[in-house]
Amino acid sequence: MSIPKKIKDGYFTYKIEQMPEEECSNFLGDFIRDDYKIRIDFNKHKDCVKDTLLHEMIHMWLCGLGLPPEMEEHVCQNLPHRMINTLKTNPQIKKFIFED
Ligand SMILES: [Zn+2]
Repeated sequence: MSIPKKIKDGYFTYKIEQMPEEECSNFLGDFIRDDYKIRIDFNKHKDCVKDTLLHEMIHMWLCGLGLPPEMEEHVCQNLPHRMINTLKTNPQIKKFIFED
């Protein structure tokens, strides 16, 4: 499956686009609330892209909650890998959570 081009979050729709090449050496991705976009280096390994997308989605969910920036980054750094790993190794939980 290719990388989705947009993500809806409540009333808002954010574009998912390629991180400019000149910024890829410093960042895997970022969330730019004011521009309604998530930028990711799509040239990384697929698992890295997934992890980065989830990282930026957590920034999307946490923005506006007033967490100290270092705390927000700590959460975003640590949750994606654990979430993906737990859902991959527990398909019954993934199915239960996401089935209609
Ligand atoms: Zn971050």
